[in-house]
Amino acid sequence: MTESQARYKKVRIVEKVQEKLKEGIENYRAAGDAPAKYDVYDVIEEIFAAINPPAADESKVTVDEVSGCLRSSYLDRKDPSERTHQQMMSKIMQKSALSIMEKPIQGELDAGSNVKLVGRADRVEDDVVMMFRAADELPEMPYAEDFIQLNSYLYMFDKPEGVIVYFDKEGRENEIQVPKSEKLLNETKRRARILNTLLRNNIVPAIEPSERCLNCPHNEKCYYNSEDKQKWGFWARGKWRELKPKPFLL
Ligand code: SF4
Repeated sequence: MTESQARYKKVRIVEKVQEKLKEGIENYRAAGDAPAKYDVYDVIEEIFAAINPPAADESKVTVDEVSGCLRSSYLDRKDPSERTHQQMMSKIMQKSALSIMEKPIQGELDAGSNVKLVGRADRVEDDVVMMFRAADELPEMPYAEDFIQLNSYLYMFDKPEGVIVYFDKEGRENEIQVPKSEKLLNETKRRARILNTLLRNNIVPAIEPSERCLNCPHNEKCYYNSEDKQKWGFWARGKWRELKPKPFLL
C-alpha cells in the first residue's frame, strides 16, 4: 500500500468514526425529545396524589395530622420527602382495599385559637361512627392513632359511640367499640394548636420515636442517611451496617 493510499484509508476510518458518533448523538437526542412513556409508576404517583391532596391552609389541621407524629405532619407540609413507589403502593392498597365499605363524610371542630380540626370519617350511620382499617395481625386494642381519630369524629358528628373494625389479609375481622373521651379530645385539639403554632413559626417539632419511624419517608431527616455503609465481612457471621452519625445526634 502506497503512502497516499494509507493516508486515504486512515481518513476514511476517522470519517466513519465521526459518522457513528454523530448518529449516536442524534439517536440520544431523539430519545430525549420523545415523549416519556406513561407507565405503571405514573399511575401509582397519580393515584397517590389523588388520595393525598395538598394540605389545607395553616389554620386547618387534619385529624390524620394530629393523630400521628407531629414532626412528620410538619415535614409533609414544609419539606416533603419523596416517597418510594413501595411506600406509595402500600398506602394505596391500605386505602383502596376497604374503600368499598366507606361512605366518607367531612366534618370540622373548633380547636381554639382560630384553629380548625378537620377530618373525614369513613362512615357515619344513625348513631355510630365506623372506621375500617387493614392490619397484618388483628390487634387486641385499637392503635393509638385510630383511637384519636375515631374519638375526634364522635365529637365532630355528635355521635355517642364508635367502632373500629380491623381486617386481616384473610378477611378475619375484629370490631372494637370505642368510648367517647373528652379528655382525649382536648389533648387532640391541643396538638392541633401546637402544630399550627409550629407551622406558623417554622419550628420543626421534636422527634417522636415509634414503630412508624421504620417506614416513614422522613426517616433520614430524623436519624441516619441512606449512604450508610453496608458491608459483608468475610469472617462476619452476617450482614452488618455502619451508620454515619448526624450532626444533631453528636
Ligand atoms: S422518622 Fe419518626 S420521628 Fe421522624 S418524622 Fe418520621 S415518624 Fe416522626
